[in-house]
Amino acid sequence: MDEDTANTGDDSSVGGNASSTRTDEPTPADADGLTDTEPTEFTSTDATSADDTDVDVDPENYGRDRSTTDVDLDGMVFDDETDDSKGLFDDLLSGEPIFENKEVLRPSYTPHELPHRNDQINQMATILVSALRGETPSNILIYGKTGTGKTASAKFVSQELESTSQKYDVPCEVEYINCEVTDTQYRVLAQLANKFIETNQDRIASDLERYRDLRSTASDDPAALDRSAFADLDDLDDRIATLEADADEMEEVPMTGWPTDRVYSTFFDAVDYRERVVVIMLDEIDKLVEKSGDDTLYNLSRMNSELDNSRISIMGISNDLKFTDFLDPRVKSSLGEEEIVFPPYDANQLRDILQHRADIAFKADALTDDVIPLCAAFAAQEHGDARRALDLLRTAGELAERSQAEIVGEKHVRQAQDKIELDRVVEVVRTLPTQSKIVLFAVILLEKNGVHNINTGEVFNIYKRLCEEIDADVLTQRRVTDLISELDMLGIVNAVVVSKGRYGRTKEMGLSVPVEETEAVLLSDSRLGDIENAQPFVQARFDN
Ligand code: ADP
Ligand code: MG
Repeated sequence: MDEDTANTGDDSSVGGNASSTRTDEPTPADADGLTDTEPTEFTSTDATSADDTDVDVDPENYGRDRSTTDVDLDGMVFDDETDDSKGLFDDLLSGEPIFENKEVLRPSYTPHELPHRNDQINQMATILVSALRGETPSNILIYGKTGTGKTASAKFVSQELESTSQKYDVPCEVEYINCEVTDTQYRVLAQLANKFIETNQDRIASDLERYRDLRSTASDDPAALDRSAFADLDDLDDRIATLEADADEMEEVPMTGWPTDRVYSTFFDAVDYRERVVVIMLDEIDKLVEKSGDDTLYNLSRMNSELDNSRISIMGISNDLKFTDFLDPRVKSSLGEEEIVFPPYDANQLRDILQHRADIAFKADALTDDVIPLCAAFAAQEHGDARRALDLLRTAGELAERSQAEIVGEKHVRQAQDKIELDRVVEVVRTLPTQSKIVLFAVILLEKNGVHNINTGEVFNIYKRLCEEIDADVLTQRRVTDLISELDMLGIVNAVVVSKGRYGRTKEMGLSVPVEETEAVLLSDSRLGDIENAQPFVQARFDN
């Protein structure tokens, strides 16, 4: 990806603002490309940059050299000719930029090198090479926790497979589907059907073009047919007519509305339209099974026995090691013909991965020596998640940039870790079910009133009051205890069971997340937001 795209990317933070500043002095950030992206308009700020030579200035109004003194206004506004009035973005753009190409640190970037994944990549290639020999590769299941490089490796292998198949002109195609997005049988089959219809149509269009050319040459010079597969012009005309009819017949599947078996048979016909080996990559396959069961996999895995011309092979990728427990045994054995495990990265491996990316992403010497090891160490604690490591590094760079530091240091990594952790908490809390939110709110109210070692009974009492306040169902204390355990597992509260001697046992807990931010997220929920002034009635409970 080039610098251009990097600067106009989706990011709204510092780097992404370069285009807003294009009327000012050129800066490193807008040096490339941006200056020719829009016609120069004259706004009042252009007066401050009248020495931009590439600006086609109307001499009557704006072409004044501001060093001349014949215009009073100039003399007033620019009494010091080196004074460039500072705009909103000037400070942010001054100083050396830290990033060379920030896109390289985003999840959407596919690296060309994947250190520490050679074994897995070779295993995949060894299985998939059959496709290039016209044989059907075994189905593959890939497992590993998030951020262990599954998607990146699979995409890398699929690019290599397709480019090699083009090189040797063997009919092999790879289709990648992310089942977190495409999460029902209908959508998976429709997406596949439409992709194959598209490749079929492209193929038909290019064949037709060739045959029509041949047709026109041959009508003048029948000898042209001698070198072709066609006996005579009629034969050629038949072929052209058949292709035209095929092209007309292929109807795209709408995104909803057809019965599933029609979608399936459309997909089936589209794949079988010509001879080829097709590898279907189903990424996040566990999400598909969780959401819509294993019908899709069942249907796909038994297709080969019915296809005449083509063969399909399935590569499933799962973050959940246990997801095959939910599969029909036939699907399970068919899908798991080959299994490849992606183990978590350790801190040293994460360092290598980060170092490779940092070399392209940052300006030379933009990082102190401890930045990469620290990012790697933090991410190693997060089950060896390379995505987390890259996020940390990028966020650290952004925070450094925002504070106008010259160079990214350990401090920025720690700030980045806090920021990412807080973002995670906010997201988890925001998506909690209402009942859990009420329980959590009760804990927060107690904590804000200085209660330490909060016990379940105390939480339950406040919880009941809150439920009455917003007309929510009141769960039993037992259920509330369960919800507290869930909050504990999510790392939002920290609960321990304590023995009260002959009074039995109780849970005591405290909040593990920042009070203010968490409370704000809870109150942004429309139902909890209705709670007005919770403070007094909590207070009242302590007073009496
Ligand atoms: P998964 O699919 O297992 O959740 P990804 O393949 O999406 O993980 O990897 C997460 C991020 O880490 C991506 O940005 C990816 O490019 C990067 N990454 C993972 N493994 C490597 C590696 N070995 N080398 C370079 N980058 C990697
Ligand atoms: Mg993935």
